[in-house]
Amino acid sequence: MLSRHLLRASAISRQTGVRTISFDFSDQQRDIQQAALKFAREKLVPVAAKHDETGEFPWAVVKEAHSLGFMNPQIPEKYGGPGLTTMETALIVEALSYGCTGLQLAIMGPSLAIAPVLIAGNEEQKKKYLGMLAAEPLIASYCVTEPGAGSDVNGVRTRAEKKGDEWVINGDKAWITGGGYAQWFFVLARTDADPKTPAGKAFTAFVVDGDTPGIIRGKKERNMGQRCADTRAITFEDVRVPAQNVLMKPGDGFKVAMGAFDMTRPGVAAGALGLAWRALDESTKYALERKTFGTQIANHQAVQFMLADMAINLELARLVTYKAASDVDNKVRSSYYASIAKCFAADTANQTASNAVQIFGGAGFNCEYPVEKLMRDAKIYQIYEGTSQIQRMVISRMMFNHFQANVLLYTYLDRYFI
Ligand SMILES: Cc1cc2nc3c(=O)[nH]c(=O)nc-3n(C[C@H](O)[C@H](O)[C@H](O)COP(=O)(O)OP(=O)(O)OC[C@H]3O[C@@H](n4cnc5c(N)ncnc54)[C@H](O)[C@@H]3O)c2cc1C
Repeated sequence: MLSRHLLRASAISRQTGVRTISFDFSDQQRDIQQAALKFAREKLVPVAAKHDETGEFPWAVVKEAHSLGFMNPQIPEKYGGPGLTTMETALIVEALSYGCTGLQLAIMGPSLAIAPVLIAGNEEQKKKYLGMLAAEPLIASYCVTEPGAGSDVNGVRTRAEKKGDEWVINGDKAWITGGGYAQWFFVLARTDADPKTPAGKAFTAFVVDGDTPGIIRGKKERNMGQRCADTRAITFEDVRVPAQNVLMKPGDGFKVAMGAFDMTRPGVAAGALGLAWRALDESTKYALERKTFGTQIANHQAVQFMLADMAINLELARLVTYKAASDVDNKVRSSYYASIAKCFAADTANQTASNAVQIFGGAGFNCEYPVEKLMRDAKIYQIYEGTSQIQRMVISRMMFNHFQANVLLYTYLDRYFI
């Protein structure tokens, strides 16, 4: 007998003629993926090791990616962008990450600053700040983390005070991707000094022009991986911002800053997927070439099982990442799947890269071979845009909320699927 939710799904399909689930790419999605993969193989792979070694920001590939529509592809056409869907954007991120996640982050880093403007900006703000990124290969940064506040965003101490028609921002931000080059910053600041005010009312979100006096950009950080991407501390000293640069209204900042993650976490997951995919390809190739005990290591069951586990996790991470990306396009509130995708894809990237190093043996530990870089690059996926612990907190909190409301989990999932 068909279960209740299957019956409901088939009734909806009959009414609308729409398939509820498809595992096939459309022709356009396939073309986008193939074009991005070609760019990754031809333009990113050849320069990845050099940029990893020097840490030099890859302006040449950023400019070329922009000219081909691979940079910020989610900016709508009415603001001059390519207007691609979140799913199509995820396919590009995955393909570019196959080439190099550091180069991919240099190209796609502004996505995190774009998201709050997309969800909370007014027409004037969107035209100005998204329009400039669509027109030229410029960088924008999401400026929330501070030396004393990462996972605990409620601990943000940067202050903004209203003075006449302006806000004056003071504070220290840390670990800001693209901070050295940002043309504008998305900034979260506390605007209610009372520590008892709930987070949902205590913060305000601003767009701040990068050339505003009082913005001090710190030195480029030297990180474990993704080394050519730019990470810096940013200090705000009496930075004056016009009132029209507030996103939504004063007090709404926390909602805006956190809401952006539903849109961007599928993209971060897609980056981790691209890395895992590359690790699996490199390891499979090596396993078929390298011989021990008179045979290819691919013939040893222990190696086969490692490769199989890598493939299993990659395929599952792909499914949930595409599901989370599609939810954004279908305007379904997607924190649950976005966090599952980000968490699982990040863990997959780390396990897969670590297995790749194992399969390469001594060569895996050496910089002349591709996989040690993959292992260094993978780690950050469990840290930025919410650590893996924070993702698990989001997932479990949503589960508990539904159970406390006497809604069984399968009913809740059912609502997402249908
Ligand atoms: C390369 C890089 C780029 C970044 N880019 C940006 C950017 O562009 N913009 C931006 O705003 N930020 C950025 N960040 C900051 C990043 O988002 C934070 O580092 C991350 O959110 C973790 O915060 P934290 O480093 O303060 O760690 P902490 O919050 O101090 O956490 C330390 C450890 O404790 C765990 N932990 C914390 N609280 C809990 C809890 N309640 N339960 C269980 N475990 C917990 C964490 O999971 C982690 O393992 C970047 C960071 C890096 C390294």
